[in-house]
Amino acid sequence: MPMDDSAKVQQLKYAISKAIDECEPEADDWHLIFAALTAVFTFYLAAACPDCRRKTTDALKANIPVMLNNAAKVAAMSGLPPICH
Ligand SMILES: [Zn+2]
Repeated sequence: MPMDDSAKVQQLKYAISKAIDECEPEADDWHLIFAALTAVFTFYLAAACPDCRRKTTDALKANIPVMLNNAAKVAAMSGLPPICH
């Protein structure tokens, strides 16, 4: 599962972000947002076969360094302070 930046992925990312924003999370709800995203991830993993579940979670683990690097870049561009604490 390579990182995908296709138009469909962007459309889904927008829809998910919009749904989260519509719940009007508070700054200290940061951990709750990730708990909800993890639950959604698990729900969709359940729709796949065991082999695809393993490949998907292996790819997620492998992409963590890229995710951290991209998050640092986005945070630096936003100039906003962290909301997690
Ligand atoms: Zn499969």
